[in-house]
Amino acid sequence: MAIKKFFGENSTNRSLPRRSFLRATGISALTISATSACASVTGMNADQGVVDKNEDPSRYRTRLVLLGVAGGPTLLTTDCVGVCTAVVYRDNVYLIDLGHGAQTRILEAGLGGTSEAPYALSKVRGIFFTHMHSDHLTEWPAVFATGVFNSDPGRKDKIVVFGPSARDTLPRIFPPGRTAPAMVNAENPFPGISDTTRYLENALSADINDRLFDSGTASPASLFDVRDIDTSEYGSINPEGIPPRISPFTVWTDGDVKVTATLVDHRPTAPAFAFRFDTPDGSIVVSGDTGPSDNLIELAQGADYLVHEVIDSAHVNRIVETIPVEQREGVRQHLLTSHTTIEQVGRDVAERAGAKNLVLNHLVPSNNPDERWRQASNGFSGSLFVGKDLMEFGVGQHR
Ligand SMILES: [Zn+2]
Ligand SMILES: [Zn+2]
Repeated sequence: MAIKKFFGENSTNRSLPRRSFLRATGISALTISATSACASVTGMNADQGVVDKNEDPSRYRTRLVLLGVAGGPTLLTTDCVGVCTAVVYRDNVYLIDLGHGAQTRILEAGLGGTSEAPYALSKVRGIFFTHMHSDHLTEWPAVFATGVFNSDPGRKDKIVVFGPSARDTLPRIFPPGRTAPAMVNAENPFPGISDTTRYLENALSADINDRLFDSGTASPASLFDVRDIDTSEYGSINPEGIPPRISPFTVWTDGDVKVTATLVDHRPTAPAFAFRFDTPDGSIVVSGDTGPSDNLIELAQGADYLVHEVIDSAHVNRIVETIPVEQREGVRQHLLTSHTTIEQVGRDVAERAGAKNLVLNHLVPSNNPDERWRQASNGFSGSLFVGKDLMEFGVGQHR
């Protein structure tokens, strides 16, 4: 099993784990089988920029819902919030990343509870963090702190949270030769999701303890079961953050929903994951942040929907003009290596994966015109959709 659990009310040790090299735990390789379900696009048709009101995505048992498509920590527009994607199967919601604004978008998308219990987290079964960059988890503190008030009172099942484990090697310093910076939290400078959650619990202890003392409100630990995805089988993380070539591995099976993952190339940030969700209706893959990745292409083979990040190289060229001349080429190369350009995402990734539909998200910059993003269709024989907040897609057959 590729999961190590460190945080949650049933944990035997609720103190922060000591930094250590994690032992191998026998991650089993997954053989990707071709999906037979045909995917139907419903809701907003991005190619035409119109909403097809004759289609109702909720008629589909499996749905893909884009809650936020903005990439990066800079707020450029109010049209789209931070990156967050929902996979919906029946009434179960699985969230991938929690950028700023995610919880509001859950309600706006109609993925909250019933009118009697209208809570944002009522249907959420799992949360999957692709990596530890702030634009992917900046709403996690809000969800963690207020979760027991945004979920059904008396809820019995926990929301299972998956994310990276602590990095076991320091990344290289960039550019080469630069003096090492003073680290924050030097005894655990690259914590994973469970360590980070423990720090959050401590940071919020005044609020949590106040409510425990005053009214016996349940603590966040009673709602969230936080698990590190252990990748130590693949060796220590390369200081460059370059992932090894691996086959997809199983993260979680929740009834009919199977979640697999792979390591993607977001160098020097590591580990960084892409996730694949298979249901009886079809498959949805979410890339997380990555340059073109053979691991991702294997994970996404034959996917009905590949939700993939994208960056505009023209934007990169513009922003490097604002930094000192001697840093420009290095920073430009760095940004273009850690992310996937418009020219690459269709031709070099989605086409090689044989994905039926490519949905662009994590748009950098988030205020680019659609015409620029649509150039990603060059070299891709499937359908391209430029992601927008609250865009929905149905997978497989109507209910
Ligand atoms: Zn990002
Ligand atoms: Zn990132």
